[in-house]
Amino acid sequence: MTAKTLLLLAGDGIGPEVMAETKKIIAWFNGRGATFETQDDLVGGAAYDAHGEAVSEATMKTALKADAVLFGAVGGPKWASVPYDKRPEAGLLRLRKDLGLFANLRPAICYPALADASSLKREIVEGLDILIVRELTGGVYFGQPKEITDLGNGQRRGVDTQVYDTYEIERIAAAAFELARTRRNKVTSMEKHNVMLSGLLWKEIVTDLHKKSYSDVTLEHMLADAGGMQLVRWPKQFDVIVTDNLFGDMLSDVAAMLTGSLGMLPSASLGAADESGKRKALYEPVHGSAPDIAGKGAANPIAMIASFGMALRYSFGMARESDMLDRAIAATLDKGLRTPDIAAKGQATVTTAQMGDAIIAALEAAA
Ligand code: NAD
Repeated sequence: MTAKTLLLLAGDGIGPEVMAETKKIIAWFNGRGATFETQDDLVGGAAYDAHGEAVSEATMKTALKADAVLFGAVGGPKWASVPYDKRPEAGLLRLRKDLGLFANLRPAICYPALADASSLKREIVEGLDILIVRELTGGVYFGQPKEITDLGNGQRRGVDTQVYDTYEIERIAAAAFELARTRRNKVTSMEKHNVMLSGLLWKEIVTDLHKKSYSDVTLEHMLADAGGMQLVRWPKQFDVIVTDNLFGDMLSDVAAMLTGSLGMLPSASLGAADESGKRKALYEPVHGSAPDIAGKGAANPIAMIASFGMALRYSFGMARESDMLDRAIAATLDKGLRTPDIAAKGQATVTTAQMGDAIIAALEAAA
């Protein structure tokens, strides 16, 4: 059995706490159908403190060679005044860019045991299972010019540029159609073609690709603002949503709240497949470093653990093991174990480590 290499970048704040629980899960799966070789390294504020950069060249080299990268979270008040290009988040942006991770997959699944933790009514979210596919390396976060200029008359001008080329839209749409085929076979594409030419191009290219290669999948188009509204009105109408970098950032955070807590949401970021079908990939929880609870043992490790579950599915072809892990998480929640973020008022809570241990126990029980 060839070893699968995982680079673990725990980062800052609660990153190392939730990564520690994920390591227990990786160790449990080691020898049960796979051999994982892990290597720990620094990213974000921790890397800045050690090397003066949010990610070092040596770490980048390891990341490029690894079969997958597991990423915790970066940032915090300690680094609020470091230079902009060295801020902790720059480490994540560099990893996404250099690994060519253009497709960000964010499932929003509402576990029945947590339906009451959502800000929406139980009937609206119970059984929810949608996937947001966000374009991650283009659009307004990267387009040039990107600058603040002094206009010389006491005014300054901030400019960001929204730009998409055909190939960028085609490859993200293809990823969405292919994922839909493994699910309920429906894609909703969201943009703003009514006011943005990049949105008009997006809509035309998605429509053409659908006609050419994916006509078996149901395709609908929705303006991104209407999509935001529909996500909170009746989210179960969606299966796969595909959208650009900026709208995807916002819509996936809206979807996050449907499921109750940021601490429950995993994500995967994938690159293009090489000749052998292998993709560069980075898996991370949607949440940040949560400085308000860091060091208190109060972080929910499920988003990080479920991110490893996505790695099993998308990087290692281990769908059975990934399903097994999902079931262990659901069983742990069914038993009533809650970290503070998902506990009802007055409900007893467990620590980060107790939640990790309970998921291991559920895996043991089902093995
Ligand atoms: P955050 O996601 O860190 O926290 C938002 C709220 O959710 C906080 O109240 C936090 O306690 C809670 N929360 C988050 N994850 C949780 C978990 N696993 N369990 C329990 N509760 C959890 O967002 P923020 O407060 O806006 O940002 C804090 C720092 O994280 C900032 O420096 C920000 O730049 C950074 N950040 C990093 C990433 C990343 O690394 N990908 C993403 C978002 C924010």
